[in-house]
Amino acid sequence: MAAHPIGVHVGPGLTEDNELDAGGPLARAAEMDADGVQVFLADPQGWTQPKPRPDAADLLASDLTVVVHAPYVLNVATTNNRIRIPSRKLLAAHAKAAAAVGALGMVVHGGHVLAKDDPAAGVDNWRKTFSRQAEDGGFPVPLLIENTAAGGNAMARDLDALARLWDAVGGFGAGFVLDTCHAWAAGWDLATAVDDVRAITGRVDLVHLNNSRDPQGSSRDRHAPLAEGEIPTELLVEVARAADCPIVLETPGDAASHAEEIVLLRQALA
Ligand SMILES: [Zn+2]
Repeated sequence: MAAHPIGVHVGPGLTEDNELDAGGPLARAAEMDADGVQVFLADPQGWTQPKPRPDAADLLASDLTVVVHAPYVLNVATTNNRIRIPSRKLLAAHAKAAAAVGALGMVVHGGHVLAKDDPAAGVDNWRKTFSRQAEDGGFPVPLLIENTAAGGNAMARDLDALARLWDAVGGFGAGFVLDTCHAWAAGWDLATAVDDVRAITGRVDLVHLNNSRDPQGSSRDRHAPLAEGEIPTELLVEVARAADCPIVLETPGDAASHAEEIVLLRQALA
C-alpha cells in the first residue's frame, strides 16, 4: 500500500440492476491510477438496503484502499423517530456490507437536530447508536464521522460541537473524516485544522480532500477541483501532509482530471 493512498470517489459504480457499470470501481481506479476508491453500496439519496455487489470478491482481494460512504439521508442524531430508527438500522446494514468489500471504514455524516432541539439530544442519540451496536458486537468496520458544512444544530460542523460529540462516542472507537471543503465552509483555519481535530478526537482516519467554490465561512458545500477553488492548493497539500492518512478526492471532474490531481498530490507529498 502507498504511504499516502490517494483514492477517488467513484459513486456506486453499479447499474440499477446491480451490475458493474463500465467495469466498476476497480476499472475506474486503474484508469486514474488511484490507490483507492470510495463507493456507495446503495442509492445515496435513498433508504434501500445494500445488495451484495458483483465485484465484492475482487474489491476484497485488491490492494486498493476501499472506503464506503453511507447514504446521505441517514441521520442518527435526529430526535425524529421516523428518521433516526431507520437510520440506525440502515447504518448497521451498510456497515455489514462494507465489511464484505474489505472497507477500511464507513463514512457517515455527523447529522443534526432541529432548530428547536437541544444539541445534547443529538449527541445522546449518537451515544445510543454506538452503545446499542456494541450490544450486537459493534460495527464490523470502523465508523468514520465526517464534519459537515452547514447547520446551526449540526453534530460535527464546529469544533466545540465536535468536542461534545467526541465525549460521547470517542470511547466506542469512532473514527473521524476531515472534509476540507466542509471545514472551510464552517470557517475553520485549515492551517491548524488537523491539529485542532486531533486535540479533540486523537485521530484523523481519512481526509476528503476537496477545494471549495465558495469563500471561507460560507456554509456552502460546493466542491471544486484541487487547483481551482477558493482554498489555496498549497493549504490543501498541507492538510494532506499533516493528516498522514488515506485521502479520497471528491472533486468534480472526469478520469483525466482526477488522474492529474493524483499526480499533483503524489509529487507534493513525496
Ligand atoms: Zn466529504
